[in-house]
Amino acid sequence: MHLTDKFGRRISDLRISITDRCNYKCVYCRSGNDGPQFSEMDIAEYLRIARIFVELGITKVRLTGGEPLLRKGLVEMVRELGGMRTLEGRPLDIAITTNGHLLAELAQPLADAGLTRVTVSMDAVDPEHFARITRVPNGYERVLAGIRAAQRAGLHPVKVNCVLLRGFNDDQIIPFGVFAREEGAIVRFIEFMPLEEDRVWTPEIVITLDEIVRRMAAFMPLREVEHSRSETARRYRFEDGVGEIGIIAPVSQPFCGHCSRIRVTSDGKIRTCLFSVREHDLAALMLNGASDEEMIAFIQRAVDQKEERHHIGEAGFIPASRTMVHIGG
Ligand code: SF4
Repeated sequence: MHLTDKFGRRISDLRISITDRCNYKCVYCRSGNDGPQFSEMDIAEYLRIARIFVELGITKVRLTGGEPLLRKGLVEMVRELGGMRTLEGRPLDIAITTNGHLLAELAQPLADAGLTRVTVSMDAVDPEHFARITRVPNGYERVLAGIRAAQRAGLHPVKVNCVLLRGFNDDQIIPFGVFAREEGAIVRFIEFMPLEEDRVWTPEIVITLDEIVRRMAAFMPLREVEHSRSETARRYRFEDGVGEIGIIAPVSQPFCGHCSRIRVTSDGKIRTCLFSVREHDLAALMLNGASDEEMIAFIQRAVDQKEERHHIGEAGFIPASRTMVHIGG
């Protein structure tokens, strides 16, 4: 049985936040200097959740946070996921989203354990700007070393996600284009979504897909590349064929119609959409000794309530019940 919502969308992509802790304090994400707010479950509990979702047709599992590389037992968790098979009998597509600070040390062990892809969140490609954003010294060099270690470990192509905010880091568009060409990483620009702690989001602060393409053309024109419907990023190559960028445009060009994602938070709550205002407490069910059958029925009921789409920028838009750092992306 494949999980499908009432709009006919097949749910094949599970994102599990395995910690709420982070070793960065990015100014637009964790502005409050507060620590973790939500608890963590045991790795064995996340693995049980993943196993049950895989039995319901999940083919991709992405581990997120906070910062997932902080979590002890991560390599063993990836190895266990590597042993699972999809309903079609294929290995899972296992990915991690990380800030890259600890990646240089962990890239090879994670690749050996079965990790297939890594995405590094990075919002500037000059050390000063990077330090101002993350409020962590010397982070840029460590992240660059992590990206290169991931490529050597075969986690190629490494994707680098950059959230753009007007007047904050939009001067990084062309430097990131150069970075993509020189480092051989796929840089993906993400339109800023109202999921930050300070609630500073306005439509004016968003750098849209069209604007990114236009501004990058001042450096070198882009050619759009075919992309599959469930992919969130529109893909582009530079006209000389060197380097690829992607643009994830949930604000100006929403892709909810093909959404295949479901999320589990670090404390075991199911979120059927990034912008969910309600959650489904799977952890409580597990704590009460639920069987696999009871968890499957609970998950199906949650998916039956999956939101059709987000309502960013619309009258009556209700902010998500959690900010991004507590969801995990
Ligand atoms: S906003 Fe919600 S429905 Fe839309 S793509 Fe994201 S998770 Fe899916």
